[in-house]
Amino acid sequence: MSANPEHSPLYATYSRIGLRFERGKGVWLTTEDGRRFMDLSGGIAVNGLGHAHPHLVEALKAQAEKLWHTSNLFEIPGQQRLGERLTAVTFADRVFFTNSGAEALEAAIKTARRYHYVSGRPERYRLITFEGAFHGRTLATIAAGGQGKYLEGFGPKVDGFDQVAFGDMGAVKAALTDETAGILIEPIQGEGGIRSASNEYLRALRAFCDEHGLLMVLDEVQTGMGRTGRLFAHEAAGITPDIMAVAKGIGGGFPLGACLATEEAAKGMTAGTHGTTYGGNPLAMAVGNAVLDVMLAPGFLEHVRDVALVMKQSLASLADRHPGVVQEVRGEGLLLGIKAGIPNSVLAAEMREAGVISALAGDNVVRLLPPLVITADEVREAMERIETAVVAAETKLA
Ligand SMILES: *Cc1c(COP(=O)(O)O)cnc(C)c1O
Repeated sequence: MSANPEHSPLYATYSRIGLRFERGKGVWLTTEDGRRFMDLSGGIAVNGLGHAHPHLVEALKAQAEKLWHTSNLFEIPGQQRLGERLTAVTFADRVFFTNSGAEALEAAIKTARRYHYVSGRPERYRLITFEGAFHGRTLATIAAGGQGKYLEGFGPKVDGFDQVAFGDMGAVKAALTDETAGILIEPIQGEGGIRSASNEYLRALRAFCDEHGLLMVLDEVQTGMGRTGRLFAHEAAGITPDIMAVAKGIGGGFPLGACLATEEAAKGMTAGTHGTTYGGNPLAMAVGNAVLDVMLAPGFLEHVRDVALVMKQSLASLADRHPGVVQEVRGEGLLLGIKAGIPNSVLAAEMREAGVISALAGDNVVRLLPPLVITADEVREAMERIETAVVAAETKLA
Protein backbone atom coordinates (compact mmCIF):
# COMPACT_ATOMS: atom_id res chain seq x y z
CA MET A 1 0.00 0.00 0.00
CA SER A 2 1.40 3.39 -0.89
CA ALA A 3 1.16 6.21 1.62
CA ASN A 4 -1.45 8.90 1.08
CA PRO A 5 0.59 12.05 0.38
CA GLU A 6 -2.11 14.15 2.10
CA HIS A 7 -1.23 12.49 5.38
CA SER A 8 2.48 12.00 4.84
CA PRO A 9 4.93 13.25 7.45
CA LEU A 10 7.44 13.78 4.64
CA TYR A 11 8.13 16.84 2.54
CA ALA A 12 6.29 16.53 -0.75
CA THR A 13 9.52 17.20 -2.69
CA TYR A 14 9.60 13.84 -4.48
CA SER A 15 7.00 12.42 -6.83
CA ARG A 16 7.74 8.85 -5.93
CA ILE A 17 6.97 5.70 -7.89
CA GLY A 18 4.70 3.38 -5.92
CA LEU A 19 7.16 0.54 -5.44
CA ARG A 20 8.55 -0.57 -2.08
CA PHE A 21 11.73 -2.55 -2.28
CA GLU A 22 12.71 -4.81 0.54
CA ARG A 23 15.97 -6.33 -0.64
CA GLY A 24 18.46 -6.40 -3.44
CA LYS A 25 21.17 -8.67 -4.81
CA GLY A 26 23.42 -7.65 -7.68
CA VAL A 27 21.24 -6.20 -10.44
CA TRP A 28 18.04 -7.50 -8.84
CA LEU A 29 15.57 -5.74 -6.57
CA THR A 30 12.66 -7.43 -4.79
CA THR A 31 9.57 -5.61 -3.53
CA GLU A 32 7.85 -6.22 -0.20
CA ASP A 33 5.23 -8.23 -2.07
CA GLY A 34 7.81 -10.39 -3.80
CA ARG A 35 8.02 -8.86 -7.30
CA ARG A 36 11.48 -8.88 -8.87
CA PHE A 37 12.95 -6.12 -11.04
CA MET A 38 16.22 -5.62 -12.85
CA ASP A 39 17.66 -2.39 -11.49
CA LEU A 40 19.08 -0.35 -14.36
CA SER A 41 18.85 2.86 -12.36
CA GLY A 42 21.44 1.78 -9.83
CA GLY A 43 20.09 4.24 -7.27
CA ILE A 44 20.95 6.96 -9.83
CA ALA A 45 24.45 5.71 -10.70
CA VAL A 46 25.27 4.99 -7.06
CA ASN A 47 25.16 1.21 -6.77
CA GLY A 48 28.12 0.62 -9.05
CA LEU A 49 28.76 -2.78 -7.51
CA GLY A 50 25.08 -3.72 -7.43
CA HIS A 51 23.03 -4.42 -4.32
CA ALA A 52 24.46 -6.22 -1.29
CA HIS A 53 27.88 -6.82 -2.79
CA PRO A 54 29.46 -9.34 -0.38
CA HIS A 55 32.75 -7.46 -0.07
CA LEU A 56 30.97 -4.20 0.80
CA VAL A 57 28.60 -5.91 3.24
CA GLU A 58 31.57 -7.52 4.96
CA ALA A 59 33.51 -4.24 5.17
CA LEU A 60 30.53 -2.34 6.57
CA LYS A 61 29.73 -5.02 9.17
CA ALA A 62 33.34 -5.32 10.31
CA GLN A 63 33.71 -1.54 10.70
CA ALA A 64 30.29 -1.21 12.37
CA GLU A 65 31.52 -3.40 15.22
CA LYS A 66 34.67 -1.32 15.69
CA LEU A 67 34.01 2.40 15.23
CA TRP A 68 31.47 4.50 13.34
CA HIS A 69 32.37 8.09 13.84
CA THR A 70 34.93 10.27 15.57
CA SER A 71 34.75 13.63 13.66
CA ASN A 72 37.63 15.28 11.87
CA LEU A 73 39.07 16.52 15.16
CA PHE A 74 41.12 13.33 15.03
CA GLU A 75 43.16 11.41 12.52
CA ILE A 76 41.17 8.89 10.52
CA PRO A 77 43.43 6.18 9.09
CA GLY A 78 40.80 5.11 6.54
CA GLN A 79 40.86 8.63 5.05
CA GLN A 80 44.62 8.56 4.74
CA ARG A 81 44.40 5.16 3.03
CA LEU A 82 41.55 6.04 0.64
CA GLY A 83 43.21 9.38 -0.09
CA GLU A 84 46.50 7.69 -0.94
CA ARG A 85 44.75 5.19 -3.19
CA LEU A 86 42.70 7.84 -5.01
CA THR A 87 45.67 10.11 -5.58
CA ALA A 88 47.75 7.15 -6.78
CA VAL A 89 45.31 6.43 -9.61
CA THR A 90 44.35 10.00 -10.58
CA PHE A 91 45.88 13.41 -11.40
CA ALA A 92 45.22 14.52 -7.83
CA ASP A 93 47.56 15.08 -4.87
CA ARG A 94 44.94 16.05 -2.29
CA VAL A 95 41.48 14.82 -1.31
CA PHE A 96 38.69 16.25 0.85
CA PHE A 97 35.93 13.79 1.79
CA THR A 98 32.25 14.74 1.88
CA ASN A 99 28.90 12.96 2.26
CA SER A 100 27.39 13.85 -1.08
CA GLY A 101 27.94 15.13 -4.58
CA ALA A 102 26.69 18.64 -3.88
CA GLU A 103 29.12 18.94 -0.97
CA ALA A 104 31.95 17.70 -3.19
CA LEU A 105 31.01 20.46 -5.66
CA GLU A 106 30.85 23.05 -2.88
CA ALA A 107 34.36 22.02 -1.87
CA ALA A 108 35.47 22.21 -5.51
CA ILE A 109 34.01 25.71 -5.98
CA LYS A 110 35.54 26.93 -2.71
CA THR A 111 38.91 25.38 -3.64
CA ALA A 112 38.89 27.22 -6.99
CA ARG A 113 38.02 30.55 -5.40
CA ARG A 114 40.60 30.18 -2.60
CA TYR A 115 43.30 29.28 -5.11
CA HIS A 116 43.00 32.65 -6.79
CA TYR A 117 42.55 34.42 -3.46
CA VAL A 118 45.83 33.12 -2.07
CA SER A 119 47.47 33.72 -5.45
CA GLY A 120 46.84 37.45 -5.05
CA ARG A 121 43.91 37.60 -7.47
CA PRO A 122 40.90 37.71 -5.14
CA GLU A 123 38.78 39.25 -7.92
CA ARG A 124 38.80 35.91 -9.74
CA TYR A 125 35.86 34.08 -8.22
CA ARG A 126 33.57 33.32 -11.17
CA LEU A 127 33.19 29.97 -12.90
CA ILE A 128 32.06 29.42 -16.46
CA THR A 129 29.35 26.72 -16.43
CA PHE A 130 27.13 25.09 -19.05
CA GLU A 131 23.50 24.99 -20.06
CA GLY A 132 21.86 21.70 -19.11
CA ALA A 133 24.31 21.17 -16.25
CA PHE A 134 23.45 19.61 -12.91
CA HIS A 135 25.72 20.04 -9.92
CA GLY A 136 23.43 19.44 -6.94
CA ARG A 137 20.74 21.18 -4.89
CA THR A 138 22.58 23.45 -2.45
CA LEU A 139 22.28 27.19 -2.99
CA ALA A 140 25.64 27.44 -4.77
CA THR A 141 25.19 24.30 -6.85
CA ILE A 142 21.73 25.29 -8.13
CA ALA A 143 23.32 28.58 -9.19
CA ALA A 144 26.11 26.64 -10.92
CA GLY A 145 23.55 24.38 -12.63
CA GLY A 146 21.57 27.44 -13.62
CA GLN A 147 18.26 25.65 -14.17
CA GLY A 148 15.27 27.89 -13.55
CA LYS A 149 13.13 25.06 -12.17
CA TYR A 150 15.63 24.48 -9.33
CA LEU A 151 16.32 28.19 -8.65
CA GLU A 152 12.76 29.50 -8.54
CA GLY A 153 11.61 30.81 -5.19
CA PHE A 154 14.87 30.30 -3.35
CA GLY A 155 15.94 33.91 -3.20
CA PRO A 156 18.80 35.64 -4.97
CA LYS A 157 20.88 33.28 -7.06
CA VAL A 158 24.37 32.81 -5.61
CA ASP A 159 26.67 35.03 -7.62
CA GLY A 160 29.68 33.80 -9.54
CA PHE A 161 28.48 31.54 -12.35
CA ASP A 162 28.41 32.45 -16.04
CA GLN A 163 26.50 29.95 -18.10
CA VAL A 164 27.22 29.26 -21.76
CA ALA A 165 26.00 26.74 -24.35
CA PHE A 166 27.38 23.22 -23.87
CA GLY A 167 29.91 22.39 -26.56
CA ASP A 168 30.35 25.98 -27.74
CA MET A 169 33.99 27.14 -27.55
CA GLY A 170 33.25 30.62 -28.88
CA ALA A 171 30.78 31.18 -26.04
CA VAL A 172 33.41 30.15 -23.47
CA LYS A 173 35.89 32.62 -24.93
CA ALA A 174 33.28 35.38 -24.93
CA ALA A 175 32.42 34.69 -21.27
CA LEU A 176 36.01 35.19 -20.04
CA THR A 177 36.51 38.25 -17.85
CA ASP A 178 39.12 39.44 -15.34
CA GLU A 179 36.95 37.81 -12.68
CA THR A 180 36.96 34.31 -14.17
CA ALA A 181 38.47 31.69 -11.86
CA GLY A 182 37.85 28.59 -13.93
CA ILE A 183 35.54 26.36 -15.90
CA LEU A 184 33.19 23.80 -14.34
CA ILE A 185 31.88 21.00 -16.56
CA GLU A 186 30.49 17.46 -16.52
CA PRO A 187 32.30 15.38 -19.18
CA ILE A 188 28.90 13.84 -19.87
CA GLN A 189 25.81 15.65 -18.63
CA GLY A 190 23.84 13.05 -16.70
CA GLU A 191 20.64 14.73 -15.44
CA GLY A 192 20.81 16.94 -18.51
CA GLY A 193 20.11 13.97 -20.80
CA ILE A 194 23.37 12.00 -21.31
CA ARG A 195 24.94 14.72 -23.41
CA SER A 196 28.66 14.12 -24.01
CA ALA A 197 31.30 16.78 -24.32
CA SER A 198 33.58 15.65 -27.16
CA ASN A 199 37.19 14.81 -26.37
CA GLU A 200 38.21 17.71 -28.63
CA TYR A 201 36.02 20.06 -26.60
CA LEU A 202 37.50 18.92 -23.29
CA ARG A 203 41.00 19.34 -24.72
CA ALA A 204 40.15 22.82 -26.01
CA LEU A 205 38.82 23.80 -22.57
CA ARG A 206 41.99 22.47 -20.94
CA ALA A 207 44.15 24.50 -23.33
CA PHE A 208 42.01 27.58 -22.74
CA CYS A 209 42.40 27.20 -18.96
CA ASP A 210 46.17 26.87 -19.32
CA GLU A 211 46.36 29.89 -21.58
CA HIS A 212 44.46 32.13 -19.16
CA GLY A 213 45.54 30.80 -15.77
CA LEU A 214 42.12 29.29 -15.07
CA LEU A 215 41.33 26.13 -13.14
CA MET A 216 39.58 23.29 -14.91
CA VAL A 217 37.01 21.83 -12.54
CA LEU A 218 35.32 18.58 -13.52
CA ASP A 219 32.10 17.27 -12.06
CA GLU A 220 32.55 13.50 -12.30
CA VAL A 221 29.95 12.74 -9.64
CA GLN A 222 27.97 10.68 -12.15
CA THR A 223 30.58 9.86 -14.80
CA GLY A 224 33.30 8.75 -12.39
CA MET A 225 34.15 5.53 -10.56
CA GLY A 226 34.18 3.25 -13.58
CA ARG A 227 30.81 4.32 -14.97
CA THR A 228 32.09 5.04 -18.49
CA GLY A 229 34.48 2.07 -18.60
CA ARG A 230 37.39 4.15 -17.35
CA LEU A 231 37.93 5.06 -13.73
CA PHE A 232 37.11 8.67 -14.70
CA ALA A 233 35.52 9.86 -17.93
CA HIS A 234 38.08 12.60 -18.63
CA GLU A 235 40.79 9.96 -19.11
CA ALA A 236 39.34 9.29 -22.57
CA ALA A 237 40.23 12.84 -23.64
CA GLY A 238 43.82 12.50 -22.46
CA ILE A 239 43.53 15.54 -20.20
CA THR A 240 43.53 16.06 -16.46
CA PRO A 241 41.58 18.66 -14.47
CA ASP A 242 42.91 20.75 -11.60
CA ILE A 243 39.96 19.94 -9.37
CA MET A 244 37.37 17.15 -9.58
CA ALA A 245 34.18 16.39 -7.67
CA VAL A 246 33.32 12.72 -7.15
CA ALA A 247 30.44 10.99 -5.34
CA LYS A 248 27.69 8.52 -6.25
CA GLY A 249 29.60 5.33 -7.19
CA ILE A 250 32.47 5.98 -4.77
CA GLY A 251 30.40 4.80 -1.80
CA GLY A 252 28.47 2.05 -3.56
CA GLY A 253 25.34 3.20 -1.68
CA PHE A 254 26.96 4.58 1.46
CA PRO A 255 26.75 8.41 1.40
CA LEU A 256 30.23 9.46 0.32
CA GLY A 257 31.77 12.08 -1.91
CA ALA A 258 35.20 13.57 -2.47
CA CYS A 259 36.84 16.64 -3.90
CA LEU A 260 40.18 15.88 -5.54
CA ALA A 261 42.75 18.50 -6.46
CA THR A 262 46.34 19.00 -7.46
CA GLU A 263 48.74 20.27 -4.78
CA GLU A 264 48.79 23.66 -6.52
CA ALA A 265 45.00 24.00 -6.87
CA ALA A 266 44.48 22.99 -3.23
CA LYS A 267 47.08 25.38 -1.87
CA GLY A 268 44.52 27.80 -0.46
CA MET A 269 42.66 25.16 1.53
CA THR A 270 44.66 25.57 4.69
CA ALA A 271 43.73 24.69 8.28
CA GLY A 272 40.34 26.09 9.25
CA THR A 273 39.21 27.13 5.76
CA HIS A 274 36.72 24.29 5.26
CA GLY A 275 35.27 21.38 7.17
CA THR A 276 32.53 18.85 7.74
CA THR A 277 31.36 16.88 10.75
CA TYR A 278 30.59 13.57 9.08
CA GLY A 279 32.68 13.73 5.91
CA GLY A 280 35.10 10.83 5.65
CA ASN A 281 34.07 9.12 8.87
CA PRO A 282 35.40 5.63 9.63
CA LEU A 283 32.25 3.86 8.39
CA ALA A 284 32.29 5.73 5.08
CA MET A 285 36.01 5.13 4.65
CA ALA A 286 35.66 1.39 5.27
CA VAL A 287 33.08 1.19 2.50
CA GLY A 288 34.96 3.54 0.17
CA ASN A 289 38.11 1.47 0.49
CA ALA A 290 36.12 -1.71 -0.12
CA VAL A 291 34.62 -0.19 -3.29
CA LEU A 292 38.14 0.57 -4.53
CA ASP A 293 39.30 -2.98 -3.71
CA VAL A 294 36.81 -4.21 -6.28
CA MET A 295 37.13 -1.45 -8.86
CA LEU A 296 40.93 -1.46 -8.95
CA ALA A 297 41.16 -5.24 -9.27
CA PRO A 298 42.60 -6.34 -12.62
CA GLY A 299 39.94 -6.76 -15.30
CA PHE A 300 37.18 -4.78 -13.59
CA LEU A 301 37.10 -1.85 -16.02
CA GLU A 302 37.60 -4.22 -18.94
CA HIS A 303 34.45 -6.02 -17.84
CA VAL A 304 32.57 -2.70 -17.79
CA ARG A 305 33.72 -1.93 -21.33
CA ASP A 306 32.83 -5.45 -22.55
CA VAL A 307 29.28 -5.52 -21.18
CA ALA A 308 28.76 -1.89 -22.17
CA LEU A 309 29.52 -2.84 -25.77
CA VAL A 310 26.95 -5.63 -25.66
CA MET A 311 24.39 -3.21 -24.27
CA LYS A 312 25.13 -0.38 -26.67
CA GLN A 313 25.00 -2.65 -29.72
CA SER A 314 21.76 -4.14 -28.53
CA LEU A 315 20.28 -0.67 -27.96
CA ALA A 316 21.43 0.48 -31.41
CA SER A 317 19.67 -2.51 -32.96
CA LEU A 318 16.55 -1.68 -30.94
CA ALA A 319 16.68 1.87 -32.29
CA ASP A 320 16.91 0.51 -35.86
CA ARG A 321 13.87 -1.69 -35.37
CA HIS A 322 11.75 0.74 -33.32
CA PRO A 323 12.76 4.26 -34.38
CA GLY A 324 9.41 5.72 -33.30
CA VAL A 325 10.08 4.93 -29.64
CA VAL A 326 13.89 4.73 -29.51
CA GLN A 327 15.02 7.80 -31.42
CA GLU A 328 18.63 7.81 -30.40
CA VAL A 329 21.06 5.99 -28.10
CA ARG A 330 23.53 8.12 -26.16
CA GLY A 331 26.36 7.79 -23.70
CA GLU A 332 29.53 5.93 -22.82
CA GLY A 333 30.14 2.70 -20.96
CA LEU A 334 27.23 1.98 -18.64
CA LEU A 335 26.03 5.59 -18.60
CA LEU A 336 23.52 5.20 -21.39
CA GLY A 337 20.47 7.09 -22.52
CA ILE A 338 17.52 6.40 -24.79
CA LYS A 339 16.16 9.56 -26.35
CA ALA A 340 12.50 8.61 -26.46
CA GLY A 341 10.03 9.34 -29.23
CA ILE A 342 7.24 9.19 -26.64
CA PRO A 343 7.27 10.88 -23.23
CA ASN A 344 10.22 9.38 -21.35
CA SER A 345 8.06 8.76 -18.27
CA VAL A 346 5.68 6.65 -20.39
CA LEU A 347 8.53 4.53 -21.72
CA ALA A 348 9.97 4.14 -18.19
CA ALA A 349 6.54 3.03 -16.93
CA GLU A 350 6.34 0.40 -19.70
CA MET A 351 9.81 -0.75 -18.73
CA ARG A 352 8.69 -1.19 -15.13
CA GLU A 353 5.77 -3.27 -16.39
CA ALA A 354 8.39 -5.44 -18.10
CA GLY A 355 10.40 -5.62 -14.88
CA VAL A 356 13.12 -3.07 -15.53
CA ILE A 357 13.84 0.01 -13.42
CA SER A 358 15.37 3.00 -15.20
CA ALA A 359 15.91 6.68 -14.39
CA LEU A 360 14.64 9.73 -16.25
CA ALA A 361 16.83 12.56 -17.51
CA GLY A 362 16.38 15.88 -19.28
CA ASP A 363 15.83 16.15 -23.03
CA ASN A 364 13.20 13.36 -22.85
CA VAL A 365 15.82 10.72 -22.14
CA VAL A 366 15.48 7.43 -20.25
CA ARG A 367 18.76 6.73 -18.43
CA LEU A 368 20.18 3.24 -18.09
CA LEU A 369 22.75 3.00 -15.30
CA PRO A 370 23.15 -0.69 -14.52
CA PRO A 371 25.54 -1.88 -11.85
CA LEU A 372 29.03 -2.21 -13.31
CA VAL A 373 29.07 -5.86 -12.24
CA ILE A 374 26.14 -6.76 -14.51
CA THR A 375 26.92 -9.84 -16.61
CA ALA A 376 26.49 -10.11 -20.39
CA ASP A 377 23.64 -12.58 -19.82
CA GLU A 378 21.92 -10.11 -17.50
CA VAL A 379 22.36 -7.39 -20.12
CA ARG A 380 20.69 -9.64 -22.69
CA GLU A 381 17.83 -10.39 -20.33
CA ALA A 382 17.39 -6.69 -19.57
CA MET A 383 17.40 -5.90 -23.28
CA GLU A 384 14.69 -8.49 -23.94
CA ARG A 385 12.57 -6.87 -21.27
CA ILE A 386 13.26 -3.39 -22.66
CA GLU A 387 12.22 -4.58 -26.11
CA THR A 388 8.96 -5.92 -24.64
CA ALA A 389 8.37 -2.46 -23.16
CA VAL A 390 9.22 -0.69 -26.41
CA VAL A 391 6.85 -2.93 -28.38
CA ALA A 392 4.09 -2.34 -25.82
CA ALA A 393 4.62 1.43 -26.12
CA GLU A 394 4.60 1.18 -29.92
CA THR A 395 1.37 -0.79 -29.93
CA LYS A 396 -0.29 1.90 -27.84
CA LEU A 397 1.01 4.58 -30.21
CA ALA A 398 -0.53 2.90 -33.24
C1 LIG B 1 23.98 13.60 -8.57
C2 LIG B 1 24.87 14.67 -9.05
C3 LIG B 1 25.28 15.73 -8.22
C4 LIG B 1 24.74 15.94 -6.84
O1 LIG B 1 25.00 14.87 -5.98
P1 LIG B 1 24.18 14.73 -4.61
O2 LIG B 1 24.83 13.56 -3.94
O3 LIG B 1 22.76 14.49 -4.97
O4 LIG B 1 24.35 15.99 -3.86
C5 LIG B 1 26.19 16.64 -8.72
N1 LIG B 1 26.66 16.53 -9.97
C6 LIG B 1 26.29 15.53 -10.80
C7 LIG B 1 26.89 15.45 -12.16
C8 LIG B 1 25.39 14.58 -10.37
O5 LIG B 1 25.00 13.60 -11.20
